[in-house]
Amino acid sequence: MEHNECIFCKIIRNEIPSTIIAESEQVLVIKDINPKAPVHYLIIPKKHIKDIREFHESDRHIAGDILFMARQLANDLPEPGDFKLVSNNGPSSGQCVFHSHFHFLSGKKVIDI
Ligand code: 5GP
Ligand code: ZN
Repeated sequence: MEHNECIFCKIIRNEIPSTIIAESEQVLVIKDINPKAPVHYLIIPKKHIKDIREFHESDRHIAGDILFMARQLANDLPEPGDFKLVSNNGPSSGQCVFHSHFHFLSGKKVIDI
């Protein structure tokens, strides 16, 4: 898929509306449109990378930003609680949007998600 047509690239370019939760140099955090938990955010690298297998050595700083953004989100939760960080990689894992992203889930027992 062309990056031009990628739904997350369009969100990052502000061509599609989204609820933005946080932003850093390398990532954008939005609310998932179809939440599976009371808190369901998507941590999305601003660079179009298809999945984790497509991260290059030169993308290490992006990987670092993702982890530290998850830490920040966890520390800033409206109600303190545990959380889950999930990334689907490839169609048979459940990936539907082929722009790498990390589901940040919290707000109830997220053990079975
Ligand atoms: P995946 O199945 O690829 O791991 O997750 C894709 C996620 O993106 C799904 O949870 C889906 O609800 C979410 N999603 C798909 N399209 C949009 C959109 O246009 N806006 C937002 N905020 N989330 C989206
Ligand atoms: Zn993209």
